[in-house]
Amino acid sequence: MADCLFCSIVEGKIPAAKVYEDEWCVAFRDIKPQAPLHVLIVPRKHIPTLNDLTADDAELVGRLLLAAQEIARQENVAEAGYRTVFNCNAAAGQMVFHIHLHLLGGRNLGWPPG
Ligand code: 5GP
Ligand code: ZN
Repeated sequence: MADCLFCSIVEGKIPAAKVYEDEWCVAFRDIKPQAPLHVLIVPRKHIPTLNDLTADDAELVGRLLLAAQEIARQENVAEAGYRTVFNCNAAAGQMVFHIHLHLLGGRNLGWPPG
C-alpha cells in the first residue's frame, strides 16, 4: 500500500535490520527498542489494525506467532521468556497502521504493561 511505512520496509524500499523472513512475514529490529530484544513481525499483506482481520487471515496470524517462536529461539530468549504484543488503535498506542507483532525479551518484563 502506498505511503505505508511497513509496506515500504517489506518491499525493501526503506532499510531495516531484518532478523527473519518467510513467505508470510518480515521481521526486523524496532528502531526505538523497549527491551534488549525488540523485534517487529510484520505480515507481507497490508492490514491496518487487528479490527480489520477476517477469517481468511487466520493462517497468517498463526504464522506470525510461529515466526515469533522461531526468532525467540534464534535470539536466545525462548527459555528465559519473552512477550508478544499487538497494539490496536489509539488507546493501545498503535502508531503504524499495518499490523505488527512486537516480540520483546532480554529483561524481566513488568505486568501489567503500561
Ligand atoms: P505501534 O506503536 O504501532 O504498536 O508500534 C510501532 C513501532 O514501530 C514502534 O515501536 C516504533 O518504535 C517502531 N518504528 C517506527 N518507525 C520505525 C522505522 O522506521 N523502523 C523501525 N525499525 N521501527 C520503527
Ligand atoms: Zn502496509
